[in-house]
Amino acid sequence: MKKIAIIGAGISGLTAARELQPKHDVIVFEKSRGRGGRTAHKRLEWGNFDIGAQYFTARSTEFKKQVDDWLQKGCVKEWEFTPLKLEQKAERAMLVASSDSTERYIGNPGMNSIAHDLSNNINIKFNVRVKTIVPTSNDCLELFDDKNNLLGSFDSVIIAVPAEQTIDLLPDDTSFRNSIPSSLHTPCWAVGIKTPKKVAPEIQGAFGDKTVSWVSRQSAKQYLFQSSPMQTDIDDNIEQDDFWMLHFSPEWSTKNLEATKPEVFAHAKSWFTRVFKVPVDEQNYLVHFWRYANLKDNTLSNIFWDNNLKIGAIGDWSSGGRIEGAFTSALNLINAENFKL
Ligand SMILES: Cc1cc2nc3c(=O)[nH]c(=O)nc-3n(C[C@H](O)[C@H](O)[C@H](O)COP(=O)(O)OP(=O)(O)OC[C@H]3O[C@@H](n4cnc5c(N)ncnc54)[C@H](O)[C@@H]3O)c2cc1C
Repeated sequence: MKKIAIIGAGISGLTAARELQPKHDVIVFEKSRGRGGRTAHKRLEWGNFDIGAQYFTARSTEFKKQVDDWLQKGCVKEWEFTPLKLEQKAERAMLVASSDSTERYIGNPGMNSIAHDLSNNINIKFNVRVKTIVPTSNDCLELFDDKNNLLGSFDSVIIAVPAEQTIDLLPDDTSFRNSIPSSLHTPCWAVGIKTPKKVAPEIQGAFGDKTVSWVSRQSAKQYLFQSSPMQTDIDDNIEQDDFWMLHFSPEWSTKNLEATKPEVFAHAKSWFTRVFKVPVDEQNYLVHFWRYANLKDNTLSNIFWDNNLKIGAIGDWSSGGRIEGAFTSALNLINAENFKL
């Protein structure tokens, strides 16, 4: 039995922890208060939002098997709808049908429910930001937090954070550090808003334009989890509030890195009102900035493991991006021939 530290409780880190836990002593260190990383779900007094990933798809046999298990347990549901596309026609923004037949899944009751399932019986230390990994003379790896406290001594370490943050954790001047690609992810401003329920019910999600690349009705996702009385309310067209998540495009987010949250909300409000012709509540809104959101290029598929240092690196970036890539990156590393703990 080896002592293994995993840095990051996102989908990649938790998948690795679940796979290694039966045979090894595994501890996961997570800098935030909660698990799931970019599958974060926020419950506020006035509305619930998936602020990162909105849904996921499954292509590989392994991941499909995992999704079937989640479907059976009820922590995942299918989200059956066809997203629209925003098109600019003669000065007017119009939502048009797309020929999209992708099968989409969402976490139940929020995207982070898959992280909750993966972390069953896993020892996670929350609110711990790992700062450095120091190899010692007796072939161990010591981990220190951002206040220079020793977190423990381990046989192996798996770093499960975006590549850009992986580099900062690795010992200087090692070929392993130099092998990690930098600058892979694009940023994303995410804004949650509240509106009166006035948009046609079939509009659940839409691919946007150069400013807002994605918008989806969070309340439509929640209806999937409601029992029939709520469904009747919708059918009867009873007026309620609606909740929407807007993701600003990589281009817009990159240009507006320094914007303040109220400024970003103002852009979200004017975009939404222009496209949907519905007023936006000015009191209740949520703005979140993701520095490392999605990949610029998702073609990289590689295993990052240094058998001398006994350090590995996983994450969406090393296996084609997205939630499926994060999951696959953990399995690819653990099943790699040269992965010797
Ligand atoms: C706005 C947005 C929209 C998206 N939309 C989709 C979508 O629709 N479909 C889809 O499949 N994917 C989508 N994604 C991408 C998907 O969320 C990610 O690919 C996936 O969740 C990445 O998982 P991960 O484990 O690789 O990394 P992360 O989820 O980033 O996990 C890394 C974890 O490490 C922690 N951490 C970082 N540094 C340290 C440190 N030094 N010490 C301790 N902990 C640390 C972080 O807090 C985080 O919890 C989206 C992402 C964003 C942000």
